[in-house]
Amino acid sequence: MDLEHTPQDEDFRSQVRAWLAAHVPAVPLPSLETEEGFAAHREWEREMYADRWSVVSWPEEYGGRGASPVRRLIFEEEYHAASAPGRVGQNGISLLAPTLFAHGTEEQLARLLPPMASGETVWAQAWSEPESGSDLASLRSTAVRTGGGWLLHGHKTWSSRAAFADRAFGLFRGGPAADRPHHGLTYLMFDLRAPGVTVRPIGRLDGRPAFAEIFLDGVFVPDRDVIGEPGQGWRIAMSTAADERGTTLRAPGRFLAAADRLAALWRAAADPRDSAVRDRVADAVIAARAYQLFTYAQVSRPAAAGPDRPGTGHGGDGAAAASLGKVFWSELDIRLHETALDLLGPAGELADAAGEVPDHGRWAEGWTFALAGTLYAGTNEIQRDIIAERLLGLPKERRR
Ligand SMILES: Cc1cc2nc3c(=O)[nH]c(=O)nc-3n(C[C@H](O)[C@H](O)[C@H](O)COP(=O)(O)OP(=O)(O)OC[C@H]3O[C@@H](n4cnc5c(N)ncnc54)[C@H](O)[C@@H]3O)c2cc1C
Repeated sequence: MDLEHTPQDEDFRSQVRAWLAAHVPAVPLPSLETEEGFAAHREWEREMYADRWSVVSWPEEYGGRGASPVRRLIFEEEYHAASAPGRVGQNGISLLAPTLFAHGTEEQLARLLPPMASGETVWAQAWSEPESGSDLASLRSTAVRTGGGWLLHGHKTWSSRAAFADRAFGLFRGGPAADRPHHGLTYLMFDLRAPGVTVRPIGRLDGRPAFAEIFLDGVFVPDRDVIGEPGQGWRIAMSTAADERGTTLRAPGRFLAAADRLAALWRAAADPRDSAVRDRVADAVIAARAYQLFTYAQVSRPAAAGPDRPGTGHGGDGAAAASLGKVFWSELDIRLHETALDLLGPAGELADAAGEVPDHGRWAEGWTFALAGTLYAGTNEIQRDIIAERLLGLPKERRR
């Protein structure tokens, strides 16, 4: 395997770096989990879209650059190295868009993708329900046929960004054989401000409304907002899940940048004679690099990037490998942040509101978010089951 990038790829990297150097705000934007910060991050998406950097791997007709999976990884490396703002459009760009490329209609692509790429429409994922997280197929919200569309009833929860977002996508029970868990599920998109929708924010550890519950009481969805065939939602949702766990959500650039910041922190703050700390820093840096190489290997496999799946490196049989990556990056993220907090001592636990804390309180905020990495996108226990059964061929767990 060739581990060198081509001169053209390096040229692409230089273009990304130059654009980011000229545009990334010198002072970090306010947290995107606040109304003010959400608006500022939406504006940042618009700025990137204007120069076609918001969705580099999408076809040009939808605002992208048709970049290869390798170039998308290069983009992510530069993006995180430049400490560019968090992506408020991530649910749409990383989860819904690959699903639409694979299962949506031409009309849906033309109507939904450009406003998603520009930040005009920010999407929330409405999958989880109070009694349906890991066992998603047990979901109870319904979609009932009505003239020209569907009426939604039910209760979704833990929906990231839904407090301020515009639209959501989720699974609903309805259609043939709807009484059997994986059957009769329909994948639909709906407006979060439509009549019958109530959004109730949920605060996270720092009190900011990073999530929301969504109550649906007879919400009308037109037929054009069904993804794929009614009743086929489970199969389609599994392609979203592979993207969520794989590189489209968490490319290695994020962890490489954190590992670089950790190494810089160690050089500035640590006693070089303390070999225990030095080894922890070295292990984290090596693990970030290992995830980078694993990911490049994954997306370089000929089967990985089908022409109908721009942006994803985990189509087809790569889905189980995405679970492998998910367990690895989520545990790595916690290691990186815990090591940094140990190096910083008590000051590292202060939030950015304190004004003079190291790195604008980024390590403390990053740590609380890293803790959630083993839960969202499917818990690591579920990923380990998938790895055991589909990659290692171990016997299936006995299900109740
Ligand atoms: C930061 C964050 C953001 C999120 N954003 C969204 C979002 O935008 N949209 C959305 O729809 N959801 C979102 N979620 C919800 C997330 O997808 C669920 O929390 C997750 O799927 C787990 O479901 P649960 O919380 O119901 O836990 P449960 O499913 O009740 O699991 C509880 C525990 O039991 C374990 N467990 C359950 N079943 C098994 C099994 N068969 N084998 C072994 N262990 C098992 C689990 O691993 C876990 O440790 C988010 C969650 C977090 C933390």
